[in-house]
Amino acid sequence: METFDAIVVGGGPAGSNCARTLVRSGMRVAVLDAARFPRVKLCAGWVSPPVWEQIGLSPGDYPHGIWEWKRMHVHFAGKTRSPGCRGWLIRRVEFDDFLLRRSGAEVVEHRVQKIERGQDGFVIDGRYRARFVVGAGGTNCPVARTLFPRKERKPVATQEREFEARTPFIGGDGEPEILLHDDLGGYSWSIPKSSWTNVGCGTVDPKALLPAWSQARRFFEEEKGPIPALDAVKGHSYYLFRSDHLRDCARDGVYLAGDALGLAHPLTGEGILPAVTSGRLCAEAILGGSDYRKLLESHPMFRDYRILAAVSAAPKKPLRFLTPLIPRLFAMAFSARPLPARRAIEWWQNHG
Ligand SMILES: Cc1cc2nc3c(=O)[nH]c(=O)nc-3n(C[C@H](O)[C@H](O)[C@H](O)COP(=O)(O)OP(=O)(O)OC[C@H]3O[C@@H](n4cnc5c(N)ncnc54)[C@H](O)[C@@H]3O)c2cc1C
Repeated sequence: METFDAIVVGGGPAGSNCARTLVRSGMRVAVLDAARFPRVKLCAGWVSPPVWEQIGLSPGDYPHGIWEWKRMHVHFAGKTRSPGCRGWLIRRVEFDDFLLRRSGAEVVEHRVQKIERGQDGFVIDGRYRARFVVGAGGTNCPVARTLFPRKERKPVATQEREFEARTPFIGGDGEPEILLHDDLGGYSWSIPKSSWTNVGCGTVDPKALLPAWSQARRFFEEEKGPIPALDAVKGHSYYLFRSDHLRDCARDGVYLAGDALGLAHPLTGEGILPAVTSGRLCAEAILGGSDYRKLLESHPMFRDYRILAAVSAAPKKPLRFLTPLIPRLFAMAFSARPLPARRAIEWWQNHG
């Protein structure tokens, strides 16, 4: 039996940022991951500006492929608009491996199955023991599955493929094309990263995915010609943020972070930023003995998410008058710009 101060299950962005914060304060930390890194994680690879602050790194010091994202081309309601945007594009296979190595934790390739409460903490699969366990194993995290209640709503569905082939695209390298679905129930993308291209599609309603994917594929192929690599897309699902997910974020020495908790941006599905933010807050709660749920609930970004989750649940028809503005609003959301007048909106939500 190997004993650690903390065990983090899952070495994605949530797990590695949590592990890094714990290690830096002197804890002995193991990250158990079922996969051997570098591993493929389905993801378009866009990273908004606050991510760098959360991981304590400047984009210029990131040693792998990186593309600055200044403009996007949004196809919506029969028109194409090209609003400005702020962010970066990376390749997840490189980014996650880099973050995990940099965490300084002991990384063990191990698929976690059984988590038991022991006398003084937890025992994992009869082999690893720790006072604290962090579940950062993504959508199907074994810690969330075995120790926390099921989420009430269904996750969003996605399909994607990143392939090595330069296809023609509008604009320059690192300028994503987004096909925003007319019902605002999802979007598809084609993202050029020099010799790599990432094409995918996501819908809030899982049943809408396949028809939306066919439509998106037709759209991109009409523009770029046949893309045979898209015959081999892969699917994945994950949960968008809801305020009630924060209720079940921790109990007695066990914590959840990132997709395991269901924290992705309620409109865009951005998941790396909430993953690294919750990973760090989780470590701070462990180190300071503080209330993790309060840290999450009072964080400005999650307060914005709470408002946006309410907006996304509202009927979409009244928003039609915003049609010309939607691409720009979408670009702002992609850039993780803080909501203007958040306090006033919160007041209105609580008293209005
Ligand atoms: C198609 C698609 C495109 C996306 N595009 C973007 C984007 O461009 N930008 C963005 O910000 N977000 C994007 N997201 C969301 C983002 O990828 C996730 O929200 C983010 O990866 C969450 O990070 P995480 O650390 O919580 O989980 P993950 O990155 O999923 O990491 C979880 C880790 O846990 C490990 N694990 C799972 N089960 C076990 C087990 N039993 N034992 C041990 N280890 C286990 C896995 O191997 C994995 O390494 C996208 C998602 C999808 C599906």
